[in-house]
Amino acid sequence: MHSLRFRAAILLTACAATATLSLRAQSSANLILTNGKIVTVDERFTIAQALAVRGDRIVAVGSNAEISRLADTSTRRIDLHGRTVVPGFIDNHMHLLRAATTWGRELRWDGVYSRKQAIDLLKARVQSAGRGQWVFSIGGWATAQFSDDPRPFTREELDRVAPDNPVALQESYYQIVLNSRALDDFGIRPGQPDPDDFIKGTIQRDATGRPTGIIKGDIPATRPVQARLPKIAAGELEASTRSLIADMNRAGLTTFGVPGCLPEPLQILRRLHQQNQLNLRVFCIEGPTTNTPEQVDAAIQQIRQMKPFQGDDYIDEIAFGESVYQPLHDPMFAVRSSPSADQLANWRRIATAIAEQGLSLQVHANLTGTIDAFLDQIEAINKIYPVRNLRWALAHLNQVNAAQLERMKKLGLYAAVHPWSVINGAIMQDGFGEASAADLSPLDLIQRSGITWGFGSDGSAANQYLPMTQLYYALTGKLPSGKVVMRHPIGREDALIAYTRKNAYFVFRENDIGSIQVGKLADVVALDRDYLTVPLEQIRDIKPVLTIVGGRVAYSADPEPPSRTASLR
Ligand SMILES: [Zn+2]
Repeated sequence: MHSLRFRAAILLTACAATATLSLRAQSSANLILTNGKIVTVDERFTIAQALAVRGDRIVAVGSNAEISRLADTSTRRIDLHGRTVVPGFIDNHMHLLRAATTWGRELRWDGVYSRKQAIDLLKARVQSAGRGQWVFSIGGWATAQFSDDPRPFTREELDRVAPDNPVALQESYYQIVLNSRALDDFGIRPGQPDPDDFIKGTIQRDATGRPTGIIKGDIPATRPVQARLPKIAAGELEASTRSLIADMNRAGLTTFGVPGCLPEPLQILRRLHQQNQLNLRVFCIEGPTTNTPEQVDAAIQQIRQMKPFQGDDYIDEIAFGESVYQPLHDPMFAVRSSPSADQLANWRRIATAIAEQGLSLQVHANLTGTIDAFLDQIEAINKIYPVRNLRWALAHLNQVNAAQLERMKKLGLYAAVHPWSVINGAIMQDGFGEASAADLSPLDLIQRSGITWGFGSDGSAANQYLPMTQLYYALTGKLPSGKVVMRHPIGREDALIAYTRKNAYFVFRENDIGSIQVGKLADVVALDRDYLTVPLEQIRDIKPVLTIVGGRVAYSADPEPPSRTASLR
């Protein structure tokens, strides 16, 4: 049943159609998609039936009849059979290139919402790895996402599944569970001191001194484990990167803001791009890491040399980030912060240099105390070097409040919103208490503030990366298991806009991506169900069936792509 709003939108499209058939559309199209529900996510949230592509751009959006006229015998036609099409998803903050260095060997549980299925996947991995070989996962899940049994994993449970393989399972950045073989491999043994490189107190032991298998203590506690896990060989990196890109396309993702573009995987992306095979757009957020005043001096010199925007629509460098001064980087599971004047002075020296150079900044700021302190600094910097048009963004913002959003808006700052509670909501309840955890992230306040904001996942370790899982959380306040953890849900249209059109501003490509409009790049995703009308409980399980990037089919659930000459009639 079509809502009145939907019918109004169709009428609107019909009126606007002559306008959308621009000069660009006067010769034939390479590709047309017809017979769909095209959710354009333009400024009026117009719904259309069909679209046409020439080269890598959209040349027309309109009715079936209008678009079909643009096809000739050489045009590839795709019949959408009524399916909903949305713009390619943009994730404004994903550690994509770091993920490329492990993806090919990792066990991933993104989108796995039953413990039974998770254990089956673990068993399969143990089988295929072979006796004695490592099996590991590096985050992107938490056991609270399992609807059948959300209890933590134990050493004993992993020993039953994998008696002969070392296993390390990292739950977000919260903790790592090791089985007995892994403990032994790492030299973590009863009656023996902890290995030197582990932070004191992070290796959990029972009353008798026997290690429980749990390593716990936020991000720093996970580092010695990751350092000891087997690395992907140089020769495997390209395959790992390709499988990562394929998984992103399968999830409907076409563009990323990427903090920390590691050189080796970036080199592979450049090569794929040269070969016309790159199906993701990657916009790097880069900058030196500083821990001391001396490093700040050096960083300021580097900032004066930085020259972003030397790339193109596929690979570019856009902003400084995501840390300005490392001692002020909020730990993921901290519940409060109190930045010192000393640390803030160093933070401000760097941020001032960034403003003076006219560079964009995206900075990790999560806790209320940190957000206030950074806003104080930015307000002072803004009086000397205005930041309004530089698209500075505070990132994560799980504990932002209405007053802070108001201050941000006055400064022209953007809000890069990365709700860690999508999978970590139950862990946050332990730390913050249930009531305060329910205010992380206050999406309705952010939406109502009128600030420019967009979604990021902060995958691949802190969080899962699937847009539909994040949208489910945004619309319901629920973990994938169905447990309510957040009390500030937003509407379907606003959430979709934050994952598409608004996010284009974060990567400086609002004229090229983020909505399905004439002149924009043809990045579109067809879904197996209608995001705008399915029951809320189904949002989590919506699957892309077709992902197109720059007019090229990057993913298709259909094993036989429609033939070039297939006729609609
Ligand atoms: Zn961060």
